[in-house]
Amino acid sequence: MAPKISFLGAAREVTGSCFLVETGEVRFLIDCGMFQGGRKAPARNRKPFGFDPESIDFVLLTHAHIDHSGLLPKLTKAGFTGPIFATEATANLLGVMLPDSAHIQESDARKHWRRSKRGAAASTEPIYTMKDVRLCLRQVHAISYNTKLTPHGEVCCRFRDAGHILGSAIIEVWISEGDGETTKIVFSGDLGQPGRPILRDPTPIWSRCSPECVAKEIPYWSRPGHSFSSLWPPY
Ligand SMILES: [Zn+2]
Repeated sequence: MAPKISFLGAAREVTGSCFLVETGEVRFLIDCGMFQGGRKAPARNRKPFGFDPESIDFVLLTHAHIDHSGLLPKLTKAGFTGPIFATEATANLLGVMLPDSAHIQESDARKHWRRSKRGAAASTEPIYTMKDVRLCLRQVHAISYNTKLTPHGEVCCRFRDAGHILGSAIIEVWISEGDGETTKIVFSGDLGQPGRPILRDPTPIWSRCSPECVAKEIPYWSRPGHSFSSLWPPY
């Protein structure tokens, strides 16, 4: 059975990134982001996940921006107990950004609670709290760029520079199934542009065995004058 990919966020929009990858043997997520912007975003973030969090084996995280990582504490609170793999810089940034997100939600919840006492219909519970974040961060595992990792017997992956923010990664994933078939999928995450200060350039993803699927995210590159051609050959 070929791996099945479900696009659970950042489809026809640029926030809420979350891909669910499934075979008969393994289920994992790439990113678990928060929806941001627009009147419907708070309600969408509160909706139960469209999958059973307990059934997820692991998460691979492209980078720490909240629209890619912000629902990780909701995921662990809902029963996900597996590892969350991220580069070391991303793991460090999560230790700042997720508590900040919890703080915002706790203060929003207090505001809603005060308003609801005046009759407004509003949820008064934060999606997650600082305590939920502390528990979630225990599941984060820092890994190195350019080193192959085997998070499951059928899955191998490698994090490559994405040049977007500190720690950001393009993730190459190879899925081998019982029938001897291997499928390669590349998740770009948010891509930066080459030649920027401090950050390393995005790694061109070339390989003898071309990926069978490339999930690109192109919020910035879609502007006039920017081209993928130097990084992403036409597979
Ligand atoms: Zn980003």
